[in-house]
This record gives sequence, C-alpha cells and structure tokens, in this order.
Amino acid sequence: MRAIVLSDIHGNLEALNAVLAAVGEFDVLWNLGDIVGYGASPNEVVAIVREQAQMNVRGNHDRVCCGLASALGFNPVARAAAEWTRQEMTAENREWLATTPKGPLTPDGMPAVSLAHGSPLNEDQYIITMRDAWAPLQQDGIAITFIGHTHLQGGFEQKGLDWQEIRPRYSTRNNADCWSLDLTEGTRYLINPGSIGQPRDNDWRAAFAIYDTEACTIDFHRVPYDLTAAQGRILMAGLPEKLAARLREGR
Ligand code: ZN
Repeated sequence: MRAIVLSDIHGNLEALNAVLAAVGEFDVLWNLGDIVGYGASPNEVVAIVREQAQMNVRGNHDRVCCGLASALGFNPVARAAAEWTRQEMTAENREWLATTPKGPLTPDGMPAVSLAHGSPLNEDQYIITMRDAWAPLQQDGIAITFIGHTHLQGGFEQKGLDWQEIRPRYSTRNNADCWSLDLTEGTRYLINPGSIGQPRDNDWRAAFAIYDTEACTIDFHRVPYDLTAAQGRILMAGLPEKLAARLREGR
C-alpha cells in the first residue's frame, strides 16, 4: 500500500496542487492537520482535502480558525491570519473543520501506525529535539508515528539504546527531489513529512512523505511550486506581508 502523508498545508493552494501533481498513484492520503491558517486559499484547500484524504487529524490552527479554540495563545501575525481565515471560510467548511478528530488516530488494519498533529501524547506539543521525542517513542506496540506541527521534515528513530535524528539529505535546492528511508524491524519511528504550505527547515519547496508498506520505505519528497502566485494571493488578501516573505526563506 502506498500512503501519501501530508501536513501543515496552511491554506497554500499552489503548494498543495504541486504536491498532488507529483505524488503519482496512491492508495490512501493521510492529512496530519493545520489545513488552514497563514495562507490565502482556505476554502480551496479544504475542498481538496475533503475530497482526497481518507484520514484527517485536526491541527491547532484548524481549531482556532473554525472557532473551537481561542487565538489568544497565537502571536499577532498568526492571530491576524486566523481571524481572516475564520471570516473567509464558508460556514460549511468551518463546520467540517470542527468535526476533524483529535489525534492520535489509527488507520484501519494498521495497529502499529499512529497519526498525530503534535505529539501523540499532547496534540499541541512540538517535537523538535530528542528530549521531546523520547516519551512518544516509548509507546508499546506503535512502530511508526506520523507527526506534523513543527514544519520540519524528518524525525527520530530508536532501536533499543540506539537513537538517531532523521534529516533528509537532498542533492538539489530548487528541483523536485526525494530521499528514501529504509524501515527496519524492531525500530520505532517518529516521522514528520514536513509542511506543504509553510516549510520552516530553510527549504522553500513543499514537503511531504510517501509510506510504502510493501517496500518498507518512507520517501521524503520536496517539490517546487508557484511561489510568486501564493505570495501574491497573500498580499492581495491583505494578510500580513511577513507571511508572504517567509515562504521564500522556508522558515
Ligand atoms: Zn502548522
């Protein structure tokens, strides 16, 4: 089975379209949350995700943008974007977003796989360091946990006392690129596919992952997209300029 794993689309239609054009054939699509917030196309990306994804985990921005949570914990830029997004979204999309479940979720027939937005132990927690990764990796019976939230592609692996950070090593900076991780029996993984709509690992290209259960691999992908169009849409919408500028920096 080929599972496409997406996270943190953040209303970036151009990036999502480029990714969907690049994924090829797949069996299921799993979305790890933060579909909206920051980017200027919330209704368009929600429509695509509703049609294509078999599983959706809610993100913190999704919760705020659909009115389930307050924006008080957000910085001023994120708050302004969340308020804009809440007004821009149709009532139907807001209601749908409010029904997306809290992680972790378990795909049908795959008890050793888990899907979460932040940590599987706390949906709002960022997993950035080995210290953050330690507790989530101790869950019995879970071999692979897919997470988002940090917008950093890669993750962590543990086999017994052996720990490692996983960082994809790409050979190019501007073209489509892929780095493959071979999964080994007895190793536990925390895998972050990276962010579609607002990467923060100093690489502007849209990030996603493909989990191939037969090949026992996770491929980390980067694809270029129409950055200028996405930036233009943010500026035309009257969203904070910083949200357009940071897309080029990938941070
Ligand atoms: Zn996010």
